[in-house]
Amino acid sequence: MNNIILARAAAGERLSAAEIADILADTDPATAKELFSAAYAVKAENVGTVAYFRGIIECSNICTKDCYYCGIRKGNRQVERYSMDPEDIYREALQADQFNYGSIVIQAGERQDPAFIAMIENILRRIKEATEGRIGITLSLGEQSRETYRRWFEAGAHRYLLRIETSDPDLYAQLHPADHSYEARVQALRDLRDTGYQVGTGFMMGLPGQTYRQMARDILFLDELDIDMVGMGPYIPHGNTPLGRDLPPLSDAEKRRLLNLGLRMIAMARLTLRDVNIAATTALQALAQDGREQGLQAGANVIMPNLTETVYRPNYSLYENKPCTDENAGMCRGCLQRRIESIGETIGYNQWGDSPHFHRRTL
Ligand code: SAH
Ligand code: SF4
Repeated sequence: MNNIILARAAAGERLSAAEIADILADTDPATAKELFSAAYAVKAENVGTVAYFRGIIECSNICTKDCYYCGIRKGNRQVERYSMDPEDIYREALQADQFNYGSIVIQAGERQDPAFIAMIENILRRIKEATEGRIGITLSLGEQSRETYRRWFEAGAHRYLLRIETSDPDLYAQLHPADHSYEARVQALRDLRDTGYQVGTGFMMGLPGQTYRQMARDILFLDELDIDMVGMGPYIPHGNTPLGRDLPPLSDAEKRRLLNLGLRMIAMARLTLRDVNIAATTALQALAQDGREQGLQAGANVIMPNLTETVYRPNYSLYENKPCTDENAGMCRGCLQRRIESIGETIGYNQWGDSPHFHRRTL
Protein backbone atom coordinates (compact mmCIF):
# COMPACT_ATOMS: atom_id res chain seq x y z
CA MET A 1 0.00 0.00 0.00
CA ASN A 2 2.85 2.42 0.80
CA ASN A 3 4.29 1.88 -2.67
CA ILE A 4 1.04 3.23 -4.15
CA ILE A 5 1.29 6.31 -1.92
CA LEU A 6 4.92 6.71 -2.99
CA ALA A 7 4.07 6.49 -6.68
CA ARG A 8 1.50 9.29 -6.22
CA ALA A 9 4.06 11.45 -4.42
CA ALA A 10 6.66 10.79 -7.13
CA ALA A 11 4.13 11.93 -9.73
CA GLY A 12 3.80 15.25 -7.92
CA GLU A 13 0.63 14.67 -5.96
CA ARG A 14 0.36 16.29 -2.52
CA LEU A 15 0.14 13.71 0.23
CA SER A 16 -1.83 14.14 3.45
CA ALA A 17 -0.10 14.26 6.85
CA ALA A 18 -1.44 10.75 7.57
CA GLU A 19 0.08 9.39 4.35
CA ILE A 20 3.45 11.04 4.94
CA ALA A 21 3.43 9.68 8.51
CA ASP A 22 2.82 6.17 7.13
CA ILE A 23 5.85 6.45 4.86
CA LEU A 24 8.03 7.80 7.67
CA ALA A 25 6.96 4.98 9.98
CA ASP A 26 7.56 2.24 7.41
CA THR A 27 10.91 0.67 8.31
CA ASP A 28 10.85 -1.96 5.56
CA PRO A 29 14.18 -1.59 3.66
CA ALA A 30 12.35 -2.15 0.36
CA THR A 31 10.13 0.91 0.99
CA ALA A 32 13.18 2.99 1.95
CA LYS A 33 14.94 1.97 -1.27
CA GLU A 34 11.93 2.92 -3.35
CA LEU A 35 11.50 6.20 -1.44
CA PHE A 36 15.13 7.25 -1.90
CA SER A 37 15.20 6.42 -5.58
CA ALA A 38 11.94 8.32 -6.20
CA ALA A 39 13.34 11.33 -4.32
CA TYR A 40 16.64 11.10 -6.21
CA ALA A 41 14.81 11.16 -9.55
CA VAL A 42 12.88 14.28 -8.46
CA LYS A 43 16.13 15.87 -7.31
CA ALA A 44 17.89 15.07 -10.62
CA GLU A 45 15.02 16.58 -12.58
CA ASN A 46 14.57 19.74 -10.50
CA VAL A 47 17.99 20.69 -9.12
CA GLY A 48 20.43 18.33 -10.87
CA THR A 49 22.95 15.92 -9.37
CA VAL A 50 25.36 18.63 -8.33
CA ALA A 51 26.37 19.04 -4.69
CA TYR A 52 26.87 22.67 -3.69
CA PHE A 53 29.25 23.55 -0.89
CA ARG A 54 28.75 26.15 1.82
CA GLY A 55 31.83 26.42 4.01
CA ILE A 56 30.55 26.89 7.54
CA ILE A 57 32.22 29.28 9.96
CA GLU A 58 31.03 28.78 13.55
CA CYS A 59 32.08 32.24 14.65
CA SER A 60 30.90 32.24 18.27
CA ASN A 61 29.40 29.88 20.83
CA ILE A 62 28.13 32.69 23.05
CA CYS A 63 24.36 32.44 23.23
CA THR A 64 21.71 34.40 25.10
CA LYS A 65 19.16 31.61 24.69
CA ASP A 66 18.58 28.45 26.62
CA CYS A 67 17.08 25.85 24.26
CA TYR A 68 16.79 22.64 26.32
CA TYR A 69 18.44 20.42 23.67
CA CYS A 70 21.49 22.47 22.76
CA GLY A 71 25.02 22.00 24.10
CA ILE A 72 25.93 25.70 23.84
CA ARG A 73 22.79 27.03 25.61
CA LYS A 74 23.65 29.84 27.99
CA GLY A 75 22.87 27.67 31.04
CA ASN A 76 25.67 25.21 30.23
CA ARG A 77 28.52 26.42 32.42
CA GLN A 78 30.88 23.65 31.26
CA VAL A 79 31.49 25.28 27.87
CA GLU A 80 34.49 27.46 27.28
CA ARG A 81 33.00 30.42 25.42
CA TYR A 82 34.69 32.00 22.40
CA SER A 83 33.96 34.70 19.92
CA MET A 84 36.24 34.70 16.89
CA ASP A 85 38.26 37.72 16.11
CA PRO A 86 36.74 39.37 13.00
CA GLU A 87 40.12 38.86 11.29
CA ASP A 88 39.74 35.09 11.75
CA ILE A 89 36.24 35.12 10.25
CA TYR A 90 37.55 37.17 7.34
CA ARG A 91 40.48 34.80 6.80
CA GLU A 92 38.25 31.73 6.83
CA ALA A 93 35.90 33.34 4.30
CA LEU A 94 38.84 34.01 1.99
CA GLN A 95 39.91 30.42 2.44
CA ALA A 96 36.47 29.33 1.20
CA ASP A 97 37.06 31.48 -1.86
CA GLN A 98 40.49 29.88 -2.41
CA PHE A 99 38.88 26.44 -2.05
CA ASN A 100 36.38 27.53 -4.76
CA TYR A 101 33.47 26.75 -2.45
CA GLY A 102 31.27 29.50 -3.89
CA SER A 103 29.39 30.12 -0.64
CA ILE A 104 29.81 30.32 3.10
CA VAL A 105 27.51 30.07 6.12
CA ILE A 106 28.23 32.22 9.15
CA GLN A 107 26.66 30.57 12.20
CA ALA A 108 26.71 31.37 15.92
CA GLY A 109 24.74 31.37 19.12
CA GLU A 110 22.14 34.11 19.29
CA ARG A 111 23.21 37.64 20.23
CA GLN A 112 21.24 40.81 19.57
CA ASP A 113 23.55 43.41 21.08
CA PRO A 114 24.65 46.37 18.93
CA ALA A 115 28.35 45.41 19.00
CA PHE A 116 27.61 41.94 17.57
CA ILE A 117 25.23 43.30 14.93
CA ALA A 118 27.79 45.88 13.80
CA MET A 119 30.62 43.32 13.79
CA ILE A 120 28.65 41.02 11.47
CA GLU A 121 27.66 43.92 9.24
CA ASN A 122 31.27 45.03 8.86
CA ILE A 123 32.60 41.58 8.20
CA LEU A 124 29.96 40.99 5.52
CA ARG A 125 31.03 44.14 3.70
CA ARG A 126 34.70 43.22 3.94
CA ILE A 127 34.16 39.69 2.64
CA LYS A 128 32.02 40.91 -0.25
CA GLU A 129 34.56 43.54 -1.20
CA ALA A 130 37.62 41.30 -0.93
CA THR A 131 36.04 38.53 -3.04
CA GLU A 132 34.49 41.04 -5.49
CA GLY A 133 31.09 39.54 -4.70
CA ARG A 134 32.14 36.01 -5.66
CA ILE A 135 31.21 34.46 -2.33
CA GLY A 136 27.51 33.87 -1.58
CA ILE A 137 26.74 34.38 2.10
CA THR A 138 24.18 32.57 4.25
CA LEU A 139 23.61 33.64 7.83
CA SER A 140 22.47 31.41 10.69
CA LEU A 141 22.48 33.79 13.63
CA GLY A 142 19.10 33.23 15.22
CA GLU A 143 16.18 35.59 15.69
CA GLN A 144 16.88 39.27 15.09
CA SER A 145 14.88 42.45 14.51
CA ARG A 146 13.65 43.36 11.02
CA GLU A 147 16.12 46.24 11.08
CA THR A 148 19.03 43.86 11.72
CA TYR A 149 17.93 41.51 8.95
CA ARG A 150 17.83 44.53 6.62
CA ARG A 151 21.27 45.80 7.64
CA TRP A 152 22.86 42.40 7.10
CA PHE A 153 21.04 41.93 3.79
CA GLU A 154 22.25 45.29 2.54
CA ALA A 155 25.77 44.42 3.67
CA GLY A 156 25.77 41.37 1.39
CA ALA A 157 24.09 38.34 3.00
CA HIS A 158 21.38 36.85 0.79
CA ARG A 159 20.33 33.60 2.45
CA TYR A 160 19.24 32.96 6.05
CA LEU A 161 18.76 29.72 7.95
CA LEU A 162 16.47 29.66 10.95
CA ARG A 163 15.08 26.31 11.96
CA ILE A 164 11.59 26.19 13.41
CA GLU A 165 12.88 23.02 15.17
CA THR A 166 9.32 21.57 15.24
CA SER A 167 6.16 22.89 13.63
CA ASP A 168 4.13 21.69 16.61
CA PRO A 169 3.61 24.63 19.03
CA ASP A 170 3.13 22.32 22.04
CA LEU A 171 6.31 20.37 21.36
CA TYR A 172 8.12 23.68 20.72
CA ALA A 173 7.01 24.84 24.17
CA GLN A 174 8.37 21.65 25.74
CA LEU A 175 11.77 22.17 24.12
CA HIS A 176 12.26 25.80 25.13
CA PRO A 177 11.93 28.00 28.22
CA ALA A 178 8.78 30.11 28.48
CA ASP A 179 10.44 33.26 27.09
CA HIS A 180 11.17 31.53 23.74
CA SER A 181 8.21 31.91 21.41
CA TYR A 182 6.98 29.70 18.56
CA GLU A 183 4.98 32.61 17.12
CA ALA A 184 8.06 34.86 17.16
CA ARG A 185 9.99 32.15 15.31
CA VAL A 186 7.36 31.91 12.57
CA GLN A 187 7.18 35.71 12.36
CA ALA A 188 10.97 35.80 11.99
CA LEU A 189 10.71 33.52 8.94
CA ARG A 190 8.14 35.88 7.42
CA ASP A 191 10.30 38.94 8.18
CA LEU A 192 13.29 37.30 6.50
CA ARG A 193 11.24 36.58 3.40
CA ASP A 194 9.92 40.18 3.31
CA THR A 195 13.48 41.49 3.58
CA GLY A 196 14.41 39.60 0.41
CA TYR A 197 16.40 36.65 1.73
CA GLN A 198 16.24 33.13 0.42
CA VAL A 199 14.79 31.57 3.52
CA GLY A 200 15.74 28.23 4.99
CA THR A 201 14.20 26.38 7.88
CA GLY A 202 14.00 22.86 9.23
CA PHE A 203 13.62 20.62 12.24
CA MET A 204 15.15 18.09 14.49
CA MET A 205 13.69 14.64 14.30
CA GLY A 206 13.72 11.80 16.78
CA LEU A 207 13.08 14.18 19.70
CA PRO A 208 11.77 12.55 22.87
CA GLY A 209 8.01 12.12 22.51
CA GLN A 210 7.93 13.33 18.89
CA THR A 211 5.44 11.43 16.70
CA TYR A 212 5.51 10.53 13.00
CA ARG A 213 2.37 12.62 12.57
CA GLN A 214 4.21 15.68 13.96
CA MET A 215 7.13 15.08 11.61
CA ALA A 216 4.73 14.67 8.68
CA ARG A 217 3.24 18.06 9.57
CA ASP A 218 6.78 19.47 9.63
CA ILE A 219 7.09 18.58 5.95
CA LEU A 220 3.77 20.24 5.16
CA PHE A 221 4.83 23.32 7.16
CA LEU A 222 7.75 23.81 4.74
CA ASP A 223 5.30 23.81 1.88
CA GLU A 224 2.83 26.17 3.59
CA LEU A 225 5.56 28.73 4.26
CA ASP A 226 6.87 28.38 0.70
CA ILE A 227 10.39 27.83 2.03
CA ASP A 228 13.43 28.04 -0.30
CA MET A 229 15.92 25.91 1.61
CA VAL A 230 15.72 23.08 4.11
CA GLY A 231 18.22 22.17 6.83
CA MET A 232 17.18 19.45 9.22
CA GLY A 233 18.75 16.61 11.11
CA PRO A 234 18.28 14.02 13.82
CA TYR A 235 18.32 15.17 17.44
CA ILE A 236 21.50 13.96 19.11
CA PRO A 237 21.46 14.14 22.91
CA HIS A 238 23.97 16.27 24.77
CA GLY A 239 24.67 15.20 28.36
CA ASN A 240 24.92 18.73 29.76
CA THR A 241 21.43 19.80 28.74
CA PRO A 242 18.02 19.43 30.39
CA LEU A 243 16.74 17.32 27.48
CA GLY A 244 19.78 15.08 27.10
CA ARG A 245 20.80 14.70 30.74
CA ASP A 246 18.84 11.56 31.47
CA LEU A 247 19.01 9.95 28.05
CA PRO A 248 21.34 6.98 27.58
CA PRO A 249 24.14 7.27 24.97
CA LEU A 250 22.94 6.34 21.49
CA SER A 251 23.32 2.63 20.80
CA ASP A 252 24.39 1.49 17.32
CA ALA A 253 20.84 0.34 16.62
CA GLU A 254 19.46 3.71 17.70
CA LYS A 255 21.99 5.51 15.48
CA ARG A 256 20.86 3.45 12.50
CA ARG A 257 17.21 4.18 13.30
CA LEU A 258 17.86 7.93 13.58
CA LEU A 259 19.93 8.06 10.40
CA ASN A 260 17.22 6.26 8.51
CA LEU A 261 14.59 8.61 9.87
CA GLY A 262 16.72 11.62 8.85
CA LEU A 263 17.10 10.20 5.34
CA ARG A 264 13.37 9.49 5.01
CA MET A 265 12.60 13.08 6.06
CA ILE A 266 15.01 14.40 3.40
CA ALA A 267 13.37 12.20 0.78
CA MET A 268 9.84 13.27 1.79
CA ALA A 269 10.91 16.93 1.71
CA ARG A 270 12.34 16.45 -1.81
CA LEU A 271 9.20 14.68 -3.04
CA THR A 272 6.98 17.41 -1.58
CA LEU A 273 8.93 20.60 -2.32
CA ARG A 274 10.85 19.54 -5.45
CA ASP A 275 12.93 22.58 -6.44
CA VAL A 276 14.28 23.75 -3.06
CA ASN A 277 17.81 23.31 -1.75
CA ILE A 278 18.11 20.65 0.93
CA ALA A 279 21.19 20.23 3.10
CA ALA A 280 22.73 16.91 4.08
CA THR A 281 23.62 18.13 7.57
CA THR A 282 26.57 17.23 9.78
CA ALA A 283 24.28 15.52 12.31
CA LEU A 284 23.82 12.74 9.72
CA GLN A 285 27.58 12.26 9.70
CA ALA A 286 27.56 11.98 13.50
CA LEU A 287 25.43 8.86 13.04
CA ALA A 288 27.37 7.24 10.19
CA GLN A 289 30.68 8.09 8.52
CA ASP A 290 29.02 8.38 5.14
CA GLY A 291 25.79 9.92 6.53
CA ARG A 292 26.01 13.05 4.37
CA GLU A 293 26.62 11.10 1.15
CA GLN A 294 23.60 8.98 2.03
CA GLY A 295 21.74 12.30 2.48
CA LEU A 296 22.68 13.30 -1.10
CA GLN A 297 21.41 9.94 -2.32
CA ALA A 298 18.10 10.48 -0.50
CA GLY A 299 17.49 13.85 -2.20
CA ALA A 300 19.70 16.49 -0.54
CA ASN A 301 21.91 18.73 -2.73
CA VAL A 302 23.88 20.93 -0.31
CA ILE A 303 26.79 20.10 1.99
CA MET A 304 28.42 22.36 4.55
CA PRO A 305 32.12 21.59 4.97
CA ASN A 306 33.53 23.00 8.19
CA LEU A 307 35.89 25.98 7.88
CA THR A 308 36.08 26.71 11.60
CA GLU A 309 39.65 26.66 12.89
CA THR A 310 40.41 23.41 14.67
CA VAL A 311 41.06 25.10 18.05
CA TYR A 312 37.46 26.31 18.29
CA ARG A 313 35.70 23.20 17.06
CA PRO A 314 35.41 21.22 20.31
CA ASN A 315 33.72 24.23 21.92
CA TYR A 316 31.02 24.43 19.28
CA SER A 317 29.45 21.18 20.39
CA LEU A 318 25.73 21.57 19.84
CA TYR A 319 25.51 17.81 20.41
CA GLU A 320 27.83 14.99 21.38
CA ASN A 321 30.21 13.18 19.01
CA LYS A 322 30.07 16.04 16.52
CA PRO A 323 32.35 14.72 13.75
CA CYS A 324 35.62 16.20 12.46
CA THR A 325 36.31 18.33 15.55
CA ASP A 326 40.00 17.43 15.31
CA GLU A 327 40.41 18.16 11.61
CA ASN A 328 41.25 21.32 9.72
CA ALA A 329 39.51 22.93 6.75
CA GLY A 330 41.88 21.47 4.12
CA MET A 331 41.27 17.95 5.39
CA CYS A 332 37.51 18.49 5.22
CA ARG A 333 37.74 19.59 1.62
CA GLY A 334 39.77 16.66 0.31
CA CYS A 335 37.76 14.13 2.26
CA LEU A 336 34.42 15.45 1.01
CA GLN A 337 35.44 15.71 -2.62
CA ARG A 338 36.46 12.02 -2.64
CA ARG A 339 33.25 10.98 -0.93
CA ILE A 340 31.00 12.90 -3.30
CA GLU A 341 32.77 11.74 -6.43
CA SER A 342 32.45 8.18 -5.14
CA ILE A 343 28.65 8.41 -5.46
CA GLY A 344 28.88 9.78 -9.01
CA GLU A 345 27.91 13.40 -8.35
CA THR A 346 29.75 16.54 -9.35
CA ILE A 347 30.56 19.47 -7.07
CA GLY A 348 29.32 22.96 -7.91
CA TYR A 349 32.64 24.69 -7.31
CA ASN A 350 32.66 28.50 -7.66
CA GLN A 351 28.89 28.70 -7.82
CA TRP A 352 26.43 30.15 -5.34
CA GLY A 353 24.06 27.29 -6.04
CA ASP A 354 20.97 29.30 -5.15
CA SER A 355 17.63 27.67 -4.53
CA PRO A 356 15.86 27.36 -7.92
CA HIS A 357 12.62 27.70 -5.97
CA PHE A 358 13.59 31.20 -4.85
CA HIS A 359 14.22 32.32 -8.42
CA ARG A 360 10.94 30.85 -9.59
CA ARG A 361 8.91 32.48 -6.83
CA THR A 362 10.53 35.89 -7.40
CA LEU A 363 10.35 35.94 -11.21
N1 SAH B 1 21.74 29.90 17.30
C1 SAH B 1 21.31 29.69 15.98
C2 SAH B 1 22.25 28.86 15.13
C3 SAH B 1 23.06 27.80 15.85
S1 SAH B 1 22.16 26.42 16.44
C4 SAH B 1 19.92 29.09 15.97
O1 SAH B 1 19.51 28.50 16.96
O2 SAH B 1 19.24 29.25 14.95
C5 SAH B 1 21.87 25.57 14.92
C6 SAH B 1 20.97 24.37 15.01
O3 SAH B 1 21.59 23.33 15.75
C7 SAH B 1 19.65 24.57 15.73
O4 SAH B 1 18.71 25.16 14.89
C8 SAH B 1 19.28 23.14 16.13
O5 SAH B 1 18.34 22.58 15.22
C9 SAH B 1 20.60 22.37 16.01
N2 SAH B 1 20.88 21.66 17.27
C10 SAH B 1 21.05 22.19 18.49
N3 SAH B 1 21.18 21.21 19.41
C11 SAH B 1 21.09 20.03 18.75
C12 SAH B 1 21.13 18.65 19.15
N4 SAH B 1 21.30 18.30 20.41
N5 SAH B 1 21.00 17.71 18.18
C13 SAH B 1 20.85 18.05 16.88
N6 SAH B 1 20.79 19.33 16.46
C14 SAH B 1 20.90 20.31 17.38
FE1 SF4 C 1 21.48 29.15 21.22
FE2 SF4 C 1 20.82 28.25 18.78
FE3 SF4 C 1 21.67 26.57 20.73
FE4 SF4 C 1 19.25 27.71 20.94
S1 SF4 C 1 19.92 26.27 19.34
S2 SF4 C 1 20.76 27.56 22.57
S3 SF4 C 1 19.65 29.73 20.03
S4 SF4 C 1 22.83 28.18 19.75
